[in-house]
Amino acid sequence: MNLILLGPPGAGKGTQARRLEDARGLVQLSTGDMLRAMVKEGGPLGQQAKEIMDAGKLMPDDLMVSMIGERIEKPDVKNGFILDGFPRTVAQAEALDTMLAQKGLKLDHVIEMKVDDAALVERITGRYTCAKCGKGYHDVFETPKVAGVCDACGSTEFKRRADDNAETVKTRLEQYHAQTAPILPYYRDRGVLKTVDGMAEIDEVSRQIEAIIG
Ligand code: AMP
Repeated sequence: MNLILLGPPGAGKGTQARRLEDARGLVQLSTGDMLRAMVKEGGPLGQQAKEIMDAGKLMPDDLMVSMIGERIEKPDVKNGFILDGFPRTVAQAEALDTMLAQKGLKLDHVIEMKVDDAALVERITGRYTCAKCGKGYHDVFETPKVAGVCDACGSTEFKRRADDNAETVKTRLEQYHAQTAPILPYYRDRGVLKTVDGMAEIDEVSRQIEAIIG
C-alpha cells in the first residue's frame, strides 16, 4: 500500500507515519529527514539546504523529485511507503504521478491531516526529540516521565530542530498555504483524497487513518 500524509508542518505526519511503519510494515519516506541527514553530512549542497530550511522556504522541485525517485528504487519500499513531506507543490505531485506510472506503482490513499494554524505554532515551537532514539516530546503536551530523561532509552540528551522557532514557523505555514494546499484539489479530482481531524488525540487520528486504509 502506498500512501501520502499531507498537512501543514506540525500536523502530526511524522508521528502517524512512524505508527504506520510499526503497524503495517510500510516505510516512511520523509524528505525533511533526508534533507536533515544531508545537512549533517556537510558539503556545499548540505549548506545550501540548511539556509533554505532555516528560512522556512521550499527546496527546488527538481532536487526533491530526484531525491524521492532514487529512494523509491530501493528494495525496502516494495511492501509500500508513506510519503511524509512530499509532494509539497503541484509540480512535485505531477512528477510523482509520472514516476509511479513508469514503475507500475499507484497511490492508494492521500490523507489530509487538518489542523488550525493557531494550534500548529504552539505544537511546533514546543516540540523536541531524544537525540539518541528520536522519541518525540513537547514542552507542554508530552514531557518525559522523569524530567530530562528519555522514557524510551534513558538518554539525557535532547534536540530541537533549527526551523522549529516562531519566526520560521510563520514562513513555513505561509509556504504551506501558498504552495502545498493547491495539491489538495489535485488529489480530490483524482478521487484519492481523504481527510482526518488532525486536532484530535494521537490515538484517535490513528483510528481515523486505519478506518480509511482498512
Ligand atoms: P519537514 O521535516 O517535512 O517539515 O521539512 C523541513 C524543511 O525541509 C521544509 O521546511 C523545507 O525547507 C524542506 N523540504 C522538505 N520536504 C520538501 C519538499 N518536498 N519540497 C521542498 N522542500 C522540502
